[in-house]
Amino acid sequence: MDMNLQNQQIICVACPKGCRLNIQRDGDQVLVSNQGCKRGVEYANGEMKDPRRMVATTVRIQGGRHPLLPVYTATPFPKARIKDLLASLRSVQVQAPVKEGQVILENALDTGIPILASRDM
Ligand code: SF4
Repeated sequence: MDMNLQNQQIICVACPKGCRLNIQRDGDQVLVSNQGCKRGVEYANGEMKDPRRMVATTVRIQGGRHPLLPVYTATPFPKARIKDLLASLRSVQVQAPVKEGQVILENALDTGIPILASRDM
């Protein structure tokens, strides 16, 4: 038996059906089964090779109605770097007024992913 083989199950969240995907990993190879459609294969590959998540958090704002402004990542962010992202956003302070969707940080941690304001303030 090949000891490098790893089996795993994950839920595909690419659509509401939520298929339970069986994943067999052999080195860089990702074999997927039980997917309801081909998007499940893409989802599983993404999860295995470059897992990402949307991040919503807050940054400090001066001159606003509240001390904190809700912000979010414009696209899913590399999961392994979310902790560093949250740490770096702790030192960000913006000045009111801010518009919903305004870019708060253009290139978070050199990923090319912008951080946007979730609301006007
Ligand atoms: S595999 Fe296809 S059908 Fe199943 S949850 Fe993912 S996107 Fe939906």
